[in-house]
Formats: sequence, C-alpha cells, structure tokens
Amino acid sequence: MIHMRNICKIYERGRVRAVDGVNLDIARGTYTAILGASGSGKSTLMHLIGLLDRPTGGTYALCGQQTTGMSARGRAALSRKHIGFVFQSFSLVPGMDALENAALPLAFRGVPRGERIDRAADMLCMVGLGARLRHTPEMLSGGQQQRVAIARALVTDPDLLLADEPTGNLDPKSAREILDLFDRLHASGRTILWITHDRGAAQRAERRILMREGRLCPEEET
Ligand code: ADP
Ligand code: MG
Repeated sequence: MIHMRNICKIYERGRVRAVDGVNLDIARGTYTAILGASGSGKSTLMHLIGLLDRPTGGTYALCGQQTTGMSARGRAALSRKHIGFVFQSFSLVPGMDALENAALPLAFRGVPRGERIDRAADMLCMVGLGARLRHTPEMLSGGQQQRVAIARALVTDPDLLLADEPTGNLDPKSAREILDLFDRLHASGRTILWITHDRGAAQRAERRILMREGRLCPEEET
C-alpha cells in the first residue's frame, strides 16, 4: 500500500534533515507503530505519507500510484481517497454535534445528507458512541472526542488510518480505550499506521519501526 524509497525532507532554513533517506513498505491489513523520540521526524514523515507535504527527494507510491511529480490538486485528491487522519488534538468543530462532525468528510464529497448521517451514525456506533450522537464536543470527554475524530477519519472508508500520537492528550484509561479500538479495527482488517513515543504502548502493534534523527532503524533495535 505504501512504497517509499529514499524519501527525504530537508528544511533549508537551519538545514534540518527532518527525514533523511527513508525506505518504508506498509502492506494492506497491517498494524504498525512508528516509534521515536521527540524531534526524530515522526510527524514530518506522517505528513509525507499523508501527502500533506512534499518530500525534497525520493519516490513514494501510494496504493499503486506514483506521487512524485503530481500536482498539488492531484495529491490532495489521492490523500482524500485513500487516507483517514487522526491527530493528537481532536480538531472537532465546536458547536457541531458528533454526527455532523463525523459526517463532515462526506459533505465535502457531495454525499446526500441522509446517507451522510446514516454512515456517520454507523461509524459512531462502531467506536462506542451510539448513545452520544447529538452531543457536541463541549459535552464529551477527551477520549470520547478522539473517538468522534476516529469515526470522522473512517467515515470515508479509507485504505489507511494514519494516527499521530492519538493518545497524547488523553488520560491513561482513555488512551487504553483508543488503543483497544485500534486493536478491533486491525482485527476487522483495517490498515493502521500509528505514531507514538511510548515504547510500552507500541508493543500492542504487530510491527514496530524506530525513527532516529530522520532515519528508520532496523526493527530488531526497537
Ligand atoms: P517528531 O514528530 O518526531 O517530534 P518532527 O517531525 O515534528 O518530529 O520534527 C523533526 C525535525 O524537523 C525537528 O528537528 C524539527 O525542529 C524540524 N522541523 C519540523 N518542521 C519544520 C519546519 N517547518 N521548518 C524547519 N524545521 C522543521
Ligand atoms: Mg510529532
């Protein structure tokens, strides 16, 4: 699904080699954790994988499509088609209830309202929020807000769920609930790429890769 070769991201100002020659292959249906200290380049790599940012070198194919040389518009379309994002901050729309928040990506695609609401409700039930459909973010705990964000990421049925420190703002119990949800998603066949600096928690993934100073280390070292 992901095929990266010698991917680099060098920031000219300060000459930071944030991502420095990464080779990465991710197969469909796998659950991978990318581990690494703060500043090791994890978020930069995630932005490159999600096509939110452009590498300064290397080649990247997503779901069989070569992305190098694609227009900004083409990259955005490819990202929307294949990837669902979850970030440390839940970034839900305040004042909008869980259903409307989870349905937003479908609204951007012109899916009719009735179908949007049905699909969002299905996803919210799947993440265990069937009884909170009409709650706005202000009425939900952090863990519940993150589950709405996961429902929103999955409502388009993406090939890949990309999560950057999704439990970083959560208390331990809520964090465990999110990771339990990831286990269930993986068991149901989802492909998950999870970025974390928590070595202990990363044991829950089926594969671990360590990032250090912009490079990926062999898995034996993690
Ligand atoms: P992590 O997510 O592992 O904490 P990041 O990918 O956020 O690491 O950052 C990797 C390195 O790239 C850091 O040294 C950071 O300071 C640098 N960096 C990130 N974004 C920029 C930017 N826009 N301009 C310059 N340097 C950046
Ligand atoms: Mg980061």
